[in-house]
Amino acid sequence: MPVIFKIRSRMRTLLSPAVTKIELVGLVAWIVVLLIDPMTTLDLPNITVTITLLLVWNIHCKTAYFWVWRVLGGVYIFLLSLGFGHVIAAHIELRIFALPLAVIIVVSSAILFVAVQDYLLSAVLVWAVMWPSLDLGLYSGLGIYLGIFSIASMFIGVTLSFTYLRSMRSILLKESEFRALAETDFLTSILNRRAFMDTFQRSLAEGRSGYFIMLDIDSFKQKNDQYGHDIGDKILCAMASCLKLTPGSHSVGRIGGEEFGVLLLGDDDAVAHEYAMHLLANIRCSVLPPHQYTCSAGIAQFSAISDMSAVLKCADINMYKAKHDGKDRVFQNGKRIGP
Ligand code: GH3
Ligand code: MG
Ligand code: MG
Repeated sequence: MPVIFKIRSRMRTLLSPAVTKIELVGLVAWIVVLLIDPMTTLDLPNITVTITLLLVWNIHCKTAYFWVWRVLGGVYIFLLSLGFGHVIAAHIELRIFALPLAVIIVVSSAILFVAVQDYLLSAVLVWAVMWPSLDLGLYSGLGIYLGIFSIASMFIGVTLSFTYLRSMRSILLKESEFRALAETDFLTSILNRRAFMDTFQRSLAEGRSGYFIMLDIDSFKQKNDQYGHDIGDKILCAMASCLKLTPGSHSVGRIGGEEFGVLLLGDDDAVAHEYAMHLLANIRCSVLPPHQYTCSAGIAQFSAISDMSAVLKCADINMYKAKHDGKDRVFQNGKRIGP
């Protein structure tokens, strides 16, 4: 998904509570206006507008679909203007309020949209709907002022919408940059320990079951001592690439110096074993001689009721069994997997 859409969808999450409340204020004001003079205002068009407004507001508050949310924001403003326009048209004495009402709706809706073009479209619709309710005779000879007020209200709204959306976007972009930095291992660019453990904890909380594989590069200190830390770092990056490129994992991360973790979802032992054997085979040929390396792995199964630290400990014990058995092996439940 392009970044702008992700950012807009996050803006929606931030804006939604304010939008819901502001729309509720509009709804209450609308119903109060109807109740002041129910004999003349409660006609079929106004009852239809009221029911549709309530429906739109309700769906707008609850919808999970971003595009529905975006469209309903405009629909709400349009319906409200339509309703007020209709009431004003039916009460000649209320025509004096048409201009301030249109200005209020246009300016106050500026911060309800996640895109300037959405706001502009809505503002144009408000003016188009409210314009016939204006008593133009009232402004005869003063049309220039009417023009200034309506154009100024649009400009104020667009400026508000543009500047606050731009600030929000740059704050959210910075925030996602920092979030990515906080979750990424600097050297290998895969998840760091904290982010990986968060993913694991989330999987448990969501009631998922699966396998946690702890991997530790064999005799890594010797590689560092023999070829230098630069080559050691390249080996760590090659290991991370193998984890990313071997299909079947839910999540992978670097959880220590030369220790890595893999989460697999599902409850088929055979699939987990095949994945681990395939991964170790990829690791063996991921770096050209003489820097080639191997890795030992310990598998622990987990379910929704598992305790994360007990799972980690179990995988660690199995990983050490693989080391003591001669390294470059996979162990689960104290037993060697594969040939
Ligand atoms: P074993 O097979 O028993 O796991 O032995 P080992 O040598 O891999 O394990 P040991 O714990 O003795 O050494 C781990 C080494 O990993 C020591 C440390 O210098 C190295 N190391 C940790 N982080 C990094 C890193 O970011 N870059 C490099 N180049 N080395 C690292
Ligand atoms: Mg280690
Ligand atoms: Mg090691």
